[in-house]
Amino acid sequence: MNAEESLAQIAEEVSTCTACKLHSSRKNAVPGEGPAHSDLIFIGEGPGFHENEQGRPFVGAAGKFLEELLGTIGLRREDVFIGNVVKCRPPGNRDPMVDEIEACTPYLKRQIELINPKVIITLGRFSMARYFPEAKISQIHGQPKEINSRLIVPMYHPAAALHQPSLRETVKEDFSKLPELIERGASTDPPGDPEASDPEQLSLF
Ligand code: SF4
Repeated sequence: MNAEESLAQIAEEVSTCTACKLHSSRKNAVPGEGPAHSDLIFIGEGPGFHENEQGRPFVGAAGKFLEELLGTIGLRREDVFIGNVVKCRPPGNRDPMVDEIEACTPYLKRQIELINPKVIITLGRFSMARYFPEAKISQIHGQPKEINSRLIVPMYHPAAALHQPSLRETVKEDFSKLPELIERGASTDPPGDPEASDPEQLSLF
């Protein structure tokens, strides 16, 4: 089984998943999208209105800003994998609940294991909590941490920068560090046994 087939298999499972109550209000599950082999994975929080309509991640205003940010470092959205902590939209865009995150985490974990990226960028506090349970984004944004030969970089969610224009430059500055971090990630030992780098051991959920 190759990686493409496996990502497709996960997406198929997600599309019919009923493991948490979010399934009952979704229009479309949003498994995430991107190449099977990517140096970068971006992990957001959960689908919003437009994502729920289209079944694709980051397609609203925040997605446009993410594409703009990727463009500043010479990348297109097709070059990276983009996913979320929960794959179905929380009603009214409320925060995902702990039991929902717990139910959905195995999908994300499998996606990360398959893609085996050098750098994981967390967007927003719920994905950040996978790796930095006690941290405040205002204190650690843009600062990479190496966990089992993989660099984890917490960043503000693009939507936060849209709501607070003062954050836009901060987010752009954090993005500008990514090419160097990809290089750095390439020069570390390749990520080993996926289970050994299981972030669940470091997370709240
Ligand atoms: S949010 Fe995740 S666990 Fe919950 S129904 Fe959707 S795919 Fe399943």
